[in-house]
Order: sequence, then C-alpha cells, then structure tokens
Amino acid sequence: MDRAERTDVAAGADAGDLAEAHAADAADPLAARRARFALPPELIYLDGNSLGALQPDVTRRLREVVEHEWGEGLIRSWNDADWVGLPRRVAARLAPLVGADPSELAVADSTSANLFKALAAARRLRPDRRVLLTDESNFPTDLYVAHGLADLIGDLEVRVVHPAAVADHLDASVAVLTLTHVDYRTGRLHDPVSLTHAAHEVGAVTVWDLSHSTGALDVDLHGWGADLAVGCTYKYCNGGPGSPAYLYVAERWHEQVATPVRGWFGHTRPFAFDPEYAPAAGAERFLDGTPPVLSMAALETALAAFDGVDPTVLAAKAAALTDRFIELVERRCGDDVEVVSPRRADRRGAQVSLRHADAHAVTQALIERGVIGDHRPPDLVRFGFAPLYVSHRDVVEAVEHLAAVLGTGAYLRPEFQARRTVT
Ligand SMILES: *Cc1c(COP(=O)(O)O)cnc(C)c1O
Repeated sequence: MDRAERTDVAAGADAGDLAEAHAADAADPLAARRARFALPPELIYLDGNSLGALQPDVTRRLREVVEHEWGEGLIRSWNDADWVGLPRRVAARLAPLVGADPSELAVADSTSANLFKALAAARRLRPDRRVLLTDESNFPTDLYVAHGLADLIGDLEVRVVHPAAVADHLDASVAVLTLTHVDYRTGRLHDPVSLTHAAHEVGAVTVWDLSHSTGALDVDLHGWGADLAVGCTYKYCNGGPGSPAYLYVAERWHEQVATPVRGWFGHTRPFAFDPEYAPAAGAERFLDGTPPVLSMAALETALAAFDGVDPTVLAAKAAALTDRFIELVERRCGDDVEVVSPRRADRRGAQVSLRHADAHAVTQALIERGVIGDHRPPDLVRFGFAPLYVSHRDVVEAVEHLAAVLGTGAYLRPEFQARRTVT
C-alpha cells in the first residue's frame, strides 16, 4: 500500500477522533523529538519495543567512527577518540533514564549475559539460601539463564511460580527474586516497589529485567530500592540492532558484589596487564571484554534524544497513547479482537496486545499496509508505542487500518499465512 492509499484510509477515520489526536499531539511535550528520527513516511511504526528507530545523527556518528576514527585513527582512537571511555559515557547518559548514578551502571554485552552475571552476583550475596524465585510469564531468555546458572552451581533451585503468586512464595529460603517489569506478551506490569520491599522483608536480593521499560516508563531504581537490574538498549532506547545492554548494581552493594565473568575491562587497571585480578570500583567490574565500539558509539548518540526528558514524561505519554489505542480498538474493532493488556494505564507498559485466533495473519496484513506491529504466539498481535516518536495521529490511523483488515477479512489471503523466522 503506497502513501496515497494509506492517506485515504486515514482520511476515513472519524473526524472527531482525528481532531482529538491532533490536539493531543499539539500539547505533547515530546512532539518535537519525533523530528530526530528517520521514520519512513509511509510507515506507522509500532514495534519500537522490539527494535527502536534510527536517527540520522546516529548514521552520521557511525560514518565518522568507521571512516575517520577507525579508518584513519586506527589503534590511536582508543585514546584520541576516547573509545576506552565509551562505557562510562554511555552509563552517564543512561543514568537519568533509570534513576541511577552512572557509577551504578555497566554498559556491556547482551541482556542475557548481563542477567547471568547479575543473578550469579546476587546469589553470592546470599550464599546460604537455595532458591531463585521467578515467574512463568518471564521472558524465555531469563528462564533459560536462571536454569543455566542453577545447573552450573548445583545447589540452587529455580522456583517458577504464577506471576500473581510471587509475593506468596517469598520466604527465608529465597536468595534471589528475579522478575521482568513488563510482561512481553500482555504488557502487564509487576509492581517493582512492593515486590522489592517484600523481597527485602525476607532478606532476598532482587534482580529486575527492565528491557521493556527503559526509555518508555518511569524507571526509578533508587526510588524502588532495587538491588541489581539489567535492561536492553535496542528497544525503546534506539541503540540499533544488538546494541549493548546494561547492568545496574546499587551503590550499597559495591563493596561486596563480585562478577563471575572477570575480564580485563572490569579490572581496576586493564592496561597494567596485571596477572592478579583486582575489580574496578562500582558497577564497572561487570564490564568484561573489549567494548563493541560501533554499537557503543551508536548508542551514545541515540541516547541524546532523551536529554532533558524526565522518565515520568515518557510514562505519561505512553499511558496516553495506549489509552487512546485501547479506546479506539474497542469502539471500532471490539467484536473481532480482545484487548488482553491491563485497562489501567499504571498497570501496563507502553504496549497493547490484542487476541485474535489468526493473530499471525492479522499482523502480516497490517505490515503489508505499513502498520508495523508484531506477533507473539499463539494468538497475540502486539503494538508498542515508543513515546519519543509515536504520535496520537499514528494511533488513530493504525486503528483505522486494523478495522479495515478485520472488517474486510483481508488477513485471510493466503500470502499472510506464510511464516518467517523472526515474527
Ligand atoms: C528483549 C529482552 C531481552 C533481550 O535479551 P538479549 O540478550 O539482549 O537479546 C531480555 N529480556 C527481556 C525481558 C527482553 O524483553
């Protein structure tokens, strides 16, 4: 579907809905940030929760790093372009988005690898306890990593419970409580304040996964009393595909905490080439190998889009976008889909998931029309509303397309049944 056809569909939207969306966009304190992104004009991009959008500033920065710093500077750029300072500079940009101090953040590796390090470190703080508690709605990689750690260290039991029953399973046997803030399927939030408090009441250490929260919600690690946390930067933080993740460790643990992956970049003096390991101060000991300079440089530049943005403003915009989406979907498509995300905005992330028996085909039919969401098996169509660049007008237009796809049965066409590797 080309741009003109797309505009035709959008023009079919209710004039009152469009006017309301227009007013909301005009009043949006983040509206100007959208201009920083290179979104193809024919797309409504509602998948920033899987891969954030590109900014031309990032393209320019990458070109400079590749052509100038790498191509001409070569090895000298570790000093001259301060590549070696990248983890620290990125941590400083990320810190206000998550309510942390820069010294509490290590930017490195994937979320999975950081979770392994964080869980091992947390367990080490409670060596005489045997249980690692988590819930069955957790992201698969989190469950795999927890089981892998338990296999490795032997005397750890991974207890996987229903998400509503987590607090009931907190007792003095629990060494570590690890949860993902936003349920990636439904968008349901765990309450990090009450669960962190409840874990502390029984003496357990918490590890939060904030992959679906960072850059979209009010993440306040200090305010939550969090111990350790991990999160992804290629989703709402727009760092680019596979950009490095982060690991948080609260300052009160800095003297005691140890990483199981003791690499030279986590040493207090990497370039002393000392055969004896001496951990760097603070969270930096969770760095391990050479930082991925291209990805780090992209992330550093991408995070500038958040400069001066309070996370509460991101959360408020995400709530407003998702509220509008739910209201319109129920009004326009209510008989065909079921909204599975929580109704209360303060109980859900920056996403809305809809249930439909043919969810994969519906997702494909929307993508063909330039409305990019994604499918999570068995029966969910998922839409992410990145508050930095999704507009209220996008929401109205997306629902108009969804209503058309469902109302005409367009998703039943055979080409929408084929499945690709990444959904
Ligand atoms: C996206 C996501 C990850 C990503 O893990 P990587 O190892 O960085 O690929 C991890 N956990 C959760 C909850 C996620 O949503």
